[in-house]
Amino acid sequence: MTTAFFALGRNVIVNLVSHAGRTILCAWIVFLAVGAYPSVSKEALAATDEAPKPRLDCAITFDDGPGRFTEQLLDTLKRKQVVATFFVLGELVQRAPHLVLRIAAEGHEVGNHSFDHPNLRHLDYRSQKAEIDKTERALLKLGITPKYFRPPYGSYNADTVRAAAENGLVLALWTVDALDWKYHTVHALEARLEQGIERKIGGIYLFHDPHSWTVAAMPNILDDLESNGCRFVTVTEYMNNRESKRRPDVSPPFRDRDPEFEGPSAGER
Ligand SMILES: [Zn+2]
Repeated sequence: MTTAFFALGRNVIVNLVSHAGRTILCAWIVFLAVGAYPSVSKEALAATDEAPKPRLDCAITFDDGPGRFTEQLLDTLKRKQVVATFFVLGELVQRAPHLVLRIAAEGHEVGNHSFDHPNLRHLDYRSQKAEIDKTERALLKLGITPKYFRPPYGSYNADTVRAAAENGLVLALWTVDALDWKYHTVHALEARLEQGIERKIGGIYLFHDPHSWTVAAMPNILDDLESNGCRFVTVTEYMNNRESKRRPDVSPPFRDRDPEFEGPSAGER
């Protein structure tokens, strides 16, 4: 029958319709309409079920570098097309300027993380300012003007905020701490992340690129965060997108902490 149908020429079909009259034509239209209705509805339902969840901004940050694993990390970020933010130490910037130049050239943001990682609360204003200034100068020499300052260990006081502000810097902490300095193998770190941060989608994530295990685990971590709904952004993009919501997770004087914030405690940060 199918063969016969397709064997019919255009004129024959027109003739068939005209001979059979309007009744048959109308029956066809009604059949098509009724038949199509439930399938369109199912598709619409399926589309609703499978609608992608809205993506949330995730600013991945790497502190305490640049180091000997930074190149490997940059390769991963390039391959995954992920932008991140590096809070660098001034003394390491002086030692490996080529790494910082590559970070910036590949579209990542560079922030100031002090010169040699002291606990700023133990320093007077002048010494805190010197920590920020020296790193600032090292970065400016490379043509990089940072916007954010992250105090080592997340430890700061009013002098820190003032010293940073004098350099036009805003304090930036984090909302999700990977605690990667604590988990010294890829496996341990991934296990920790499966239990913890992958359920916290959206925010500023703290990692450390001098750790081989962090850099080794990063391809999987990025894949998991992405498949759970992360849209990767720099800290500046994150802040610009959040500005209207006025969330106090990153800003001086940082009085009201974000409920997600895992505040500073002893440890390597
Ligand atoms: Zn640090």
